[in-house]
Amino acid sequence: MFRGLRMTSAECPESSLTNVVRFTKGSSSLCRGLIAAIIEDRNRNREEPMLINALMYSYDLTRHEYKPSHPFKPVRARLMSELLNRYGLISEENQRIVAPPLMDEELLYLFHTREYIELLKKGEKGEVSVEMFRAGLGTEDNPLFKTMYQYALEASSGTYEGAMMLCRGNVRFAFNPFGGFHHAGRDYAGGFCYINDIAVAIADLVRKGQRVAYVDIDAHHGDGVQDAFYKTDRVLNISLHESGETLYPGTGSETETGANEGLGYNVNIPLREGTDDEVYLLAFESLIPSLIESFKPDIVVANIGCDTHKDDPLAHLNLTSNGYKKVISIINDLSPKILALGSGGYNLFRTAALWTLAWAVFCGLQPHDLHSGIVGGMMYGPETDAGQLDDPPYSVGDWEKEQCLVHARRVIDFIKNNIFPLHGITR
Ligand SMILES: [Zn+2]
Repeated sequence: MFRGLRMTSAECPESSLTNVVRFTKGSSSLCRGLIAAIIEDRNRNREEPMLINALMYSYDLTRHEYKPSHPFKPVRARLMSELLNRYGLISEENQRIVAPPLMDEELLYLFHTREYIELLKKGEKGEVSVEMFRAGLGTEDNPLFKTMYQYALEASSGTYEGAMMLCRGNVRFAFNPFGGFHHAGRDYAGGFCYINDIAVAIADLVRKGQRVAYVDIDAHHGDGVQDAFYKTDRVLNISLHESGETLYPGTGSETETGANEGLGYNVNIPLREGTDDEVYLLAFESLIPSLIESFKPDIVVANIGCDTHKDDPLAHLNLTSNGYKKVISIINDLSPKILALGSGGYNLFRTAALWTLAWAVFCGLQPHDLHSGIVGGMMYGPETDAGQLDDPPYSVGDWEKEQCLVHARRVIDFIKNNIFPLHGITR
């Protein structure tokens, strides 16, 4: 577990100031002068409030399981929490661990239909119906299980609370490793996703007048989020993913560019299977900074799924921690406020390690292994993996690299020719 970093009244500035003032009674004029200086310094700091980095985390959520054989494992977040402690990344003054309050169910209807949410509740109680199967429930991907609705709502609550914290004030970055269910539709479940926490949170941010850019670097196309905002220019929706020709959900062609007012605000960057760091970064750096800078979002919602990793068992991309960190770093530099969501990642240790590295980048910290040199310091996993967050460099062979490059360059050209002009971006 984390070391005592929850927001408490004992840690707030007012409490500390009260203690200082109490000390002034009966103290010397020198002391009073020093204390006045301290108070003045605190007041000066208060004019520029400390920007908070928040981790949305609940230990209870890590104990849920769809079913033992299912590849989606909420326990990944607990593995990450252990790594954050091990690498000294969760003890800064400006970091908070927030156990999110349960969100108001009415908010779900900003995206979902009432009929679908009722099906989720019935499914959780053990009821089975034809309507459920039509809604994608009770399948191998989206099994019915005892805490299905409760889990989906609690996981979504972290995303919603993170979004609201960013909207309210002095939070600069929030990360919900339990969020990122980008496949859920208005009235159906898909790809392990029951409630589309992203669409719900973004819809409310937009309702509150925020400009939101959504950047999805999970290996799968963010089809549910695309459908939610396909016809609006209030959300810039960008998804980089393995091509739908080789991976679920089959959508996400570069030709899906939005409709009506949303034309040009839906950007898909499908990549060939086999794509490695170099080719991925070529596509990302050629397109994303220009689009984000042009759109000027108030908040960037970043889906930072880790199934792009070369060791992921479900997708076929070849990224390492080197490319992943670079992409996270670019997102961090481009964005005034960031809500990051865990989403996919089915190699549990690699996912926990990549999330840990992303947290470090977003918080401006360098991981430092506090267990280094301690015999028996290994916590889990193969020893070679458990002792390091980073991967060695990896590149695919010449023939495959060329195929990936040709594919990526074609997509880059299409977007530069068809979407950049709609935003007034010159090449
Ligand atoms: Zn995925």
